[in-house]
Amino acid sequence: MSQKVLIAGGGIGGMAAALALIRQGIDVEIYEQAQAFREVGAGVQISPNGNRALDALGVFADLRALSCDADEKQIRLWNTGATWKLFDLGTEAEARYGYPYLTVFRPDLLKVLSDAVHKLRPDALHLECRVKGVSQDQGKVTLHLENGTDVIGDALIGADGVHTRVRAALWGDAKAQFSGMMAWRGVIPMDRLPDHMKRHIATNWIGPGSHVVCYPLRRGELLNFVGTVQRSDWQTESWSTEGTREDCAADFKGWHEDIQTMIANAPKLFKWALMGRAPMDAWTRGNITLLGDSCHPTLPYLAQGAVMALEDAVILGRAFAASGENYGEALRRYEAARIDITRRKVLGASANTERFHNPALASEETAAVYVNREWSREAILQRYEWIFQYDVTTVPV
Ligand SMILES: Cc1cc2nc3c(=O)[nH]c(=O)nc-3n(C[C@H](O)[C@H](O)[C@H](O)COP(=O)(O)OP(=O)(O)OC[C@H]3O[C@@H](n4cnc5c(N)ncnc54)[C@H](O)[C@@H]3O)c2cc1C
Repeated sequence: MSQKVLIAGGGIGGMAAALALIRQGIDVEIYEQAQAFREVGAGVQISPNGNRALDALGVFADLRALSCDADEKQIRLWNTGATWKLFDLGTEAEARYGYPYLTVFRPDLLKVLSDAVHKLRPDALHLECRVKGVSQDQGKVTLHLENGTDVIGDALIGADGVHTRVRAALWGDAKAQFSGMMAWRGVIPMDRLPDHMKRHIATNWIGPGSHVVCYPLRRGELLNFVGTVQRSDWQTESWSTEGTREDCAADFKGWHEDIQTMIANAPKLFKWALMGRAPMDAWTRGNITLLGDSCHPTLPYLAQGAVMALEDAVILGRAFAASGENYGEALRRYEAARIDITRRKVLGASANTERFHNPALASEETAAVYVNREWSREAILQRYEWIFQYDVTTVPV
């Protein structure tokens, strides 16, 4: 009988893992709790290393056609709008790293991954299957579903996100610590905005205690808005809790007019409490491992959470290809290749909190000195070059 890999969670990480394994000729079944296959309507930045991973999965060109190649990334000061170039996302990124920096609508990313899975294995995805727990015995793994069904396989990947049941079953619940920050999220139709804001540029607006990241999606039809504030009265980690425009505007009182325009024109604004979790020392037990946010949840300040899940998936596929029928060895190879670099990114993202929210940003004079130092070309290369150069297709596995 042929061996089978079970995947808990059909989000970005789970679908990418399924695709990577199917492309290596491995049989997979994916169990997703949602009733219908969909992603939250939000944006995600995919840096060159993430696009390299998508290319290895065979879906980069399809995603690029739906997305936005932003020309550059800028730093702007919260009140005056003073502008600094952060990096060239277009021609320079492509020349330097071989891939551009894309700004992507999350449903488009999930769609290209799931279409590719569906084309190769039309019946691999099982919806309305909520995982309750997992167990393993003598090389066999069992996924226990809430509907009472038990599914047996030869290896199991927990790709069930930040509130993972697989991690909880194996390692206990991750201790989440509220970071003291929450993010406002919205997607604004670009045609609601004045002409000077309809730019193919990604911007990090930075200020003392808060910052706003905005970038175009869908070839410039939409503008993604994520506004992070230090605030402790909201502590729920959720993609779907709505807040009010007035509450959001109050958090950005005194900020530049463009920020006010974005908030005023957002059809809906959602609230997400940002939680920190310490990196894990190990992800794999026997024939069960974790992937994506289930094992390395991160603050979003390096924009690498989804990218890490895509890279995990490609490395997982290579580890299976290198390990033959020995699935336990494949999981150990995968973990060994990924655990240190993901830890470094999670810690790097946390370190950006202070950089984005520094008190020096309060006045224009101190801000200029601070930005010129923290976002000098050398400082940027030091912080990002190792991330963008990482090559999932060649790192040892
Ligand atoms: C505000 C914000 C901005 C971000 N911006 C970026 C960015 O620009 N770039 C970037 O790379 N990353 C970004 N991220 C991070 C990114 O969203 C995550 O890292 C990414 O979604 C992780 O993918 P995943 O597949 O591991 O988890 P998820 O996307 O959470 O998917 C998990 C899946 O498992 C399913 N599931 C959960 N529990 C169960 C269960 N018990 N049984 C069955 N199925 C289950 C869920 O329904 C879901 O489909 C951002 C995050 C936030 C909060």
